[in-house]
Amino acid sequence: MSYRIGQGIDFHQLEEGREFWLGGILIPHDKGAVGHSDADVLLHAICDAMLGALALGDIGVHFPDTDPQYKGADSKKLLAHCYKLISEKGYSLVNVDSTLLLQAPKIKPHIPQMQQTIADILSLSIDDVSIKATTTEHLSFIGREEGVVATVNILLKKN
Ligand code: MG
Repeated sequence: MSYRIGQGIDFHQLEEGREFWLGGILIPHDKGAVGHSDADVLLHAICDAMLGALALGDIGVHFPDTDPQYKGADSKKLLAHCYKLISEKGYSLVNVDSTLLLQAPKIKPHIPQMQQTIADILSLSIDDVSIKATTTEHLSFIGREEGVVATVNILLKKN
């Protein structure tokens, strides 16, 4: 059986008064991520990991931030598109392992809903979608609540 590994990382600024989309769901918070689309770092990093596993370029190639059709885009649609691309190449996912880096808010209560949302799009079971979260102990832009980061590793298998 043929396997391919992929990794993705994404960064977005946080700004007061914006919606905070993360892992495909809306997180109640006084700040939200800034971006051309809905700025969902976790879904963007998963997209990049899937594209990377098959050397299909990166999210900026497929969804340019200069393209008005992606303004305010729902990143779940971008994720579904990337999944379609790997499916068309004859691959499916084995698992997703991710880490969110942010100081606030607490993410743990939201993780099951994020896992389910992502699992549904990627035809996975919830047990195949790992979402971990860490603060940076108040260090750096993350610790100052100026930004949020997601890192993702995935494994694809040839059908
Ligand atoms: Mg992004």
